[in-house]
This record gives sequence, C-alpha cells and structure tokens, in this order.
Amino acid sequence: MNPRTSAQASARGSAIERAAVYRRASRRVDVGGVAVGGGAPIVVQSMTNTDTADIEATVAQVAALAGAGSELVRVTINTTEAAAAVPVIRRRLDDIGCSVPLIGDFHYNGHKLLTQHPDCAQALAKYRINPGNVGKGSKRDSQFATLIELAIEYGKPVRIGVNWGSLDQALLARMMDENAQSAKPADAEAVMRGAIVASALESAQQAEALGLPGDRIILSCKVSDVQDLVAVYGELARRCDYPLHLGLTEAGMGSKGIVASAAAMGVLLQQGIGDTLRVSLTPEPGGDRTREVVVAQELLQTMGLRSFAPMVAACPGCGRTTSTYFQELAQRIQTFLRNSMPAWRARYPGVETMRVAVMGCVVNGPGESRLANIGISLPGTGETPVAPVFVDGQKTVTLKGDGIADEFERIVLDYVRMKYGGEPATAELLPERRTLAVKAIA
Ligand code: SF4
Repeated sequence: MNPRTSAQASARGSAIERAAVYRRASRRVDVGGVAVGGGAPIVVQSMTNTDTADIEATVAQVAALAGAGSELVRVTINTTEAAAAVPVIRRRLDDIGCSVPLIGDFHYNGHKLLTQHPDCAQALAKYRINPGNVGKGSKRDSQFATLIELAIEYGKPVRIGVNWGSLDQALLARMMDENAQSAKPADAEAVMRGAIVASALESAQQAEALGLPGDRIILSCKVSDVQDLVAVYGELARRCDYPLHLGLTEAGMGSKGIVASAAAMGVLLQQGIGDTLRVSLTPEPGGDRTREVVVAQELLQTMGLRSFAPMVAACPGCGRTTSTYFQELAQRIQTFLRNSMPAWRARYPGVETMRVAVMGCVVNGPGESRLANIGISLPGTGETPVAPVFVDGQKTVTLKGDGIADEFERIVLDYVRMKYGGEPATAELLPERRTLAVKAIA
C-alpha cells in the first residue's frame, strides 16, 4: 500500500476509544465508615495545620476541610495536650454535625501518647505510623509493637507511612551494605528507593505478624520528586495488595505544588494506582487550607475518576476577546457553583457531574457550549454584542446587555432545578429562539 492509500485507509478507520483506567485490585479498609481500597471511590483527605491542642482552631479547620469535601482529616498528635484535645475535638465536631473521621499523625512518641490517652485512641479512626521514626535501635520494634497492639485493642486501621525525609536509617544502612557486596551494585538513589518500599512492606508484615488483620493496613511511600514517586508507587503496587495512599511530599507552594502533585499522581492514577490521596500544598501565609481539598477533587474530576462539583470549561481568551468580561463571568459561575454545592449535594443528586461552558468568542464558543450541559458564548471584540445560551446542545435564548451575568446565573440555577430536581423548565431552558435584552453591553 502506498503512503497515500495507507493514510486514506487509516483516516477511514480512525475511531478512537476513550482512555480507560483499570484500578489496581486492593483490599478494602474501613476508616471510620469511609471505605478505602477494594474498588471504593478514591478518597480525598487533608491535614490540619493548627496546633491540635488549640481546640477551637482545630475544630474550625477540620469543619472547613470537611465542608470543602475532605472525606478524612488528619491531625498532628505530638504532645500530651494535643492527645487530650482529640476526644474534645471529636465531640465538638459531632455536636455541629461534622462526622468526618479523624486520623492521628504520630511520630516518636505515639506509643506513649496513645497508651496514656485511651479516649484519644478511641476517638481516632486511624493511626498514621511512620516506621522511620517510631523509635531507635532496640526500642524501635517494641514501640512499633505497642502502636500495633493499641490499633488491635481499639479496632483501628493504621497507615504505615514511609517518608523519604525520615527513612528508617538502620534499614537503609543494611540495604546499602548488601548492595555494596553484590556483584553489580546499584546506585545509591536506587537503593534508597528500594529501602522506602522495603520499609513499608516489612513494617506491614511485622504488623500482621503481631496480629493486625491485613485489611486494616494502608501503605504510603512519599517522596518529593515526581519521577521517584512514580517509580516507588509502581513497585509498591506490584508487590502488595494493601490500599495505597498517594501523595507527593513537600510539593511546595502555589502553582508549583499543584503542578508537581498533579503530574505525579496523575500518572499513577492513570495506571490504576491509588486508593486515597492528599495534595500536600504549602499555603500562602494566612492562605486557605481548603485549597488542597479543592485541588485533590479537581485532579480526580478532571481525570474522570470522581465527580464533586460542576466543572466550568472556559477558553483561555486571546486577541479576539480583549475585555475581561468573560473571565469575570467564568470566575463568578465557578464560585457560584462551588458555593452552592453544600446545599445542592443532597437536594440535586447528579448535579456534581454537570458541565458548564463560558466562552469568549464565536470561534469555539458555540461548539464548546453545545458540548456542555449549559453554555454561553460571549461576544468577542467587534462581534455583535449578544450572547447565545445553549442548553443540552440546543440554543435556547440570546442574552444582551450588562445584566448577562445575573441572567446566566439564574438560567444555570433554573437548569439545575429542572435537570436534577425534577422542576418544570423555565422559558429560557426551552429550545426556542428568543432574545432577552438585559440592558446594553458596555
Ligand atoms: S474561543 Fe475565541 S476568545 Fe476564546 S480562545 Fe478561542 S478564539 Fe480566543
């Protein structure tokens, strides 16, 4: 076949299936009523940055994280005061109707704190144990055993969370020695990656040998480099069937942290790896901690793995639209949708899958708007100052004037009520050609 014929043939048979994600099979672990692994939806979690001993501040932040959609929230438990605060925090959250499970994050003294504070041990839904700093030398095994025995006594699951920055030094030294004596020694970083995985797996084996059931263990191996994270989790996924908690540690601030986390976890999620995740963003001073929850949700939703809130598709804008009007409208609609979700979630089931388009000009505006549930194509520079609205692929109404934003928001709300609440359609949702003048466009 000559190249031209071949190109014609392939053009004819070029239907392409959508990429699919086949989740890795894993055990299911119950974390305070939230299923992790075993085919359950990938769970979004977060961590507070308040002093846990400050009960008011911690309750407020846990409630804010849960309100934003965090399904599990981890708190630092590093002092007697923090451990004593946990049962009070749990009660206060229950009193305000916030049932999100709390996870205790322990380093160095977890065995003591949990032993001395049984109410804390009971109030937590899971214990996070870092095998790299659970204790040194001869104390390591007995302190690890105490933590596992407490998890067994209180019927709690654990996350064995290895971290690159606090890797078990005795294990690393042992593996470095073995590597040095081998015929073909690997480079030191490769041995370190192997040690991270070995630390998680050996600790999980040890926990099971102590009597903790295998369906009460979740593993994580966090590193701060994207390619290292992909390599480490790929190996971990291959060698066990414990559910895996994904996270790029020390991801950083702002767009750097978001991009690095999305790049690393996106690759793993596409490979079906990951049962729960946290996006470890460093907030700006005084910044909103709930950002990490929104980023985690958006990562899962843009990959088609879960739906949390309606998504707004908006074009980037270009020389064809020189006003900021469409940017402001896209931002306003996105904020309106997200802020409405706490009330809509129960009232309008399925609304979280809705797609809204806000487009800047006629080039892609009508096409993209038709593909969304509801879309608006704003006029670009020099275009007739009208904005057609598309509902379920059909043009329904054309808006004119500087009241477009208010009118479009109302039409979106009417659409939600009709589509997800079974209420009758308003005139603007019906496919008939009409123009609604809402004052002249400036
Ligand atoms: S839709 Fe129009 S304004 Fe938006 S990026 Fe495309 S050409 Fe530019």
